Amino acid sequence: MKFLDDEIAQLQKEGRFLKPRVLTGHQAPVSVVDGKKVVNLTSNNYLDLTGHPKLKAAAKAAIDTHGVGTAAVRTIIGTQDLHVALEKKLAAFKGTEACLVFQSGFTVNVACCAGLMTAPEDLLVSDELNHASIIDGSRLSKATKKVYPHKDMKALRAILETNKFRRCMIVTDGVFSMDGDIAPLPEIMDLADEFGAVVMVDDAHASGVMGENGRGTPSHFKLSHRVQVQIGTLSKAVGAVGGYVAGERRLIDYLTSTARPFLFSSSHPPSVIATCSAAIDIMLEEPQRIAKLWENARHFKEGLKKLGFDTGASETPITPVIIGDTKKAQAFSSRLFDEGVFALAICFPTVGRGKDRLRTIVSSGHKAEDLDFALEKFGQVGRELGIIK
Ligand code: PMP
Repeated sequence: MKFLDDEIAQLQKEGRFLKPRVLTGHQAPVSVVDGKKVVNLTSNNYLDLTGHPKLKAAAKAAIDTHGVGTAAVRTIIGTQDLHVALEKKLAAFKGTEACLVFQSGFTVNVACCAGLMTAPEDLLVSDELNHASIIDGSRLSKATKKVYPHKDMKALRAILETNKFRRCMIVTDGVFSMDGDIAPLPEIMDLADEFGAVVMVDDAHASGVMGENGRGTPSHFKLSHRVQVQIGTLSKAVGAVGGYVAGERRLIDYLTSTARPFLFSSSHPPSVIATCSAAIDIMLEEPQRIAKLWENARHFKEGLKKLGFDTGASETPITPVIIGDTKKAQAFSSRLFDEGVFALAICFPTVGRGKDRLRTIVSSGHKAEDLDFALEKFGQVGRELGIIK
């Protein structure tokens, strides 16, 4: 195992050796991390649902009625009535014929990329900043793959014009996870229709955040009836864990019989399913949470810009603070933590070289005073490190 010492030494040299901090208690806008109380700007708990009393009650009730686990994959006997009910609820929420729940957003992306585009005559076209799970799904797919520069619609057109295909799928994040910008979905749909392609949108960071009651980017752009493969996550705004694909009945029927993570990995415990179901109800009943999330996002983003930080192209509650240097980004994150603010440094190769950054994500649960405290500390540490004047 000596080779691992060499690998680890290399990771340490490149500043890529990770040692996760530890959260005590539940994920909250102000949390206890490594024993210290900090304003938490790192989680995807957009709607502050992870500790919601109704979600906790739903989880506990499901344990009493359905036990703690299924001990089976979905196609054996791991499909409980709760799973079916959640899928029905999600399909109605998304305005699609059907829906299939997977163990995570990662697995549903892998399943759809690899499972829908299956032969070298197929073409899988992907934005360069799509999530790692789409990249891994593409690697597993036997299709021909093409990647277009971020949101570059001329380049996408050129790929569609110059490649012959049996089937084609264009894949994009709805909201890009490191930059917080939004995919140009109307243009992508028009190109897809012109060339006979289908579109898959990964709305991991748009679920609960964008569109009517958090239905996602297709809803935001009024394209719900046109986007064929709509991916959502249950791990972020919804507050538990999981992913789903919503679309036509035949899409769901096909994936039910063929998607490898669905067929070969056990299903969610009932408590998780019940939690997700309760979360969808809350998203419908408490739209004020989404309004507050956006109010907080605007306030925090404007504050960062006013201080002189480069927040890139962000249009959503994900706001990067671009530093451009790995060591400096890590030092910034570490000093902020000392001062009571947790914002994670995201560095090369997760983002491009010279794009090292702190990624901040606000939640609907942050109070104005939490965000103002964080802004004050960003200003103080930013000046101390010479990042702003
Ligand atoms: N897609 C995107 C864009 C993501 O940011 C993530 C989570 N980091 C995922 C998919 C995977 O979701 P999950 O955490 O549910 O596996």
